[in-house]
Amino acid sequence: MGRIGPIEVMRILKILKRLWPNPGAMEIGNPYQNLVGVMLSARTRDEQVLKLMPGFFRAFSTVEKLADATTKQIEGKISTIGMYRQKAKNLKKMAVDVVVKFGGKIPSTMDELIRLAGVGRKTASVVLVASFDTPAIAVDTHVHRVTNRLGWVKTKTPQKTEQALLKLVPDKLKHTVNQVFVKHGRYICISKPRCWACPVRDLCAFKQKNLVAPKNAREILIDMERREQVLEELRRQAIR
Ligand code: SF4
Repeated sequence: MGRIGPIEVMRILKILKRLWPNPGAMEIGNPYQNLVGVMLSARTRDEQVLKLMPGFFRAFSTVEKLADATTKQIEGKISTIGMYRQKAKNLKKMAVDVVVKFGGKIPSTMDELIRLAGVGRKTASVVLVASFDTPAIAVDTHVHRVTNRLGWVKTKTPQKTEQALLKLVPDKLKHTVNQVFVKHGRYICISKPRCWACPVRDLCAFKQKNLVAPKNAREILIDMERREQVLEELRRQAIR
């Protein structure tokens, strides 16, 4: 494979967008709902977060209401997910900061977002692209793994991957990177990759491709589709 450039990037993203057309699981609602969703989803399955969201936003429909709540009250609404005590603390601090320092409006720049409690570059990037239409790339372990395998980057950490991808991917496509690679990394480019089911295998630089479909390939593909449908349905219902 030669050096990867914008044309190849565009081609691969187009193919993967056809395979994974749904938005990211936490691309929901207004900036406040979007930010809360991404903060809750750290090291937690998206399904678990999406299930608790209707109850959460009934209790705390605005950032002001969240700022007025006690940490205990917030814990009570998120106790089904991992690290809920820490997350409740961060949500409370974030909400107070947004009210006091930003007049109740979720800030719309990277520098301001990462000053909020519990908000790192990954969380901020999801909010920037989903809520403010600002080019950014949220790099989690999936995005890091898949883009390294594809040969887009040669990096050891997600932070370095983010820097490299920000240079490589044209602005108008940055939003798509997280959307498609998170799903691709969750279902197909998993630790033992399912290259046999991958529509970009001919464009991928990974040397140890797993091209032999297992006997239960059909069941795997059906299950993958079902899981993605369930996730999308939960996403749509999360803020009704
Ligand atoms: S061909 Fe295999 S390693 Fe490459 S992106 Fe597809 S699943 Fe991942």
